[in-house]
Amino acid sequence: MAIANQKGGVGKTTTAINLGATLASEGHRVLLVDLDPQGNASTGLGVRIVDGGRSIYNVLIGHSALDEIVVPTGLNNLVLAPSSIDLAGAELEMVSMLSREQRLAAAIAPVAEDYDTILVDCAPSLGLLTINALAAADELLIPVQCEFYALEGLGQLMDSIDLVRESLNSGLHIGGVLLTMFDTRTKLSTDVATQIRNYFGERVFRTVIPRSIRLSEAPSYGEPIELYDRMSPGAVAYRYVAIEFLQRHRPQEQER
Ligand code: ATP
Ligand code: MG
Repeated sequence: MAIANQKGGVGKTTTAINLGATLASEGHRVLLVDLDPQGNASTGLGVRIVDGGRSIYNVLIGHSALDEIVVPTGLNNLVLAPSSIDLAGAELEMVSMLSREQRLAAAIAPVAEDYDTILVDCAPSLGLLTINALAAADELLIPVQCEFYALEGLGQLMDSIDLVRESLNSGLHIGGVLLTMFDTRTKLSTDVATQIRNYFGERVFRTVIPRSIRLSEAPSYGEPIELYDRMSPGAVAYRYVAIEFLQRHRPQEQER
């Protein structure tokens, strides 16, 4: 599942880390791929990116296999394919490469069976890295921040999804839209949530992620909220998101 929205600071990384960690603590084998040169998912999980160390960059340019660069995190079932600053140059380097849009998909294919869920944290752009994520994914999770400009740019994101579907990955679909940084005290948050629900309908998670200081503090300790403060409202919300995520992926089991 690619976690993408070319708008910056909407909660992509926070969602990648905390949905991943929550699923992992439920016993699911989770791989989180940090596909953002900023490396926030890596540092947020306490993984120090050493200069010259191997990262997803080496995988994309064809110098390493994915399983060679995967590292453990503080949680048992959660492993990380770290980013590095080299990734910033990868888009340019990949331009002349064969099947440049399918390089992540090709890297994931041999290890896909090793995991129950693979999450890809995308950078705030619709460049070649994000296209690789969309080409590799079965589905897309779009975090949307409950603020005034929330809908801005979503049209462009939908256009990119259509293009990827037509040319690279016909199976790609929107697996979910997650409302983040919801502020119960403001009418604006409620209005934006209503607008997004009107636009995306059932695809919007019922759970809304509240604005929570604890969620923003956790990355500086290199911990998912599950470890940092598991009773905080943000932690509880991400647990509900994980439940909804699992329900959406196991309709048969739910019916039994
Ligand atoms: P980028 O586009 O730069 O990759 P992003 O979409 O990955 O950003 P995050 O890094 O997850 O967004 O979040 C942006 C900032 O907001 C971070 O400082 C994060 O800690 C904070 N944040 C995310 N979600 C919440 C929340 N629910 N409550 C409070 N702060 C939050
Ligand atoms: Mg991010």
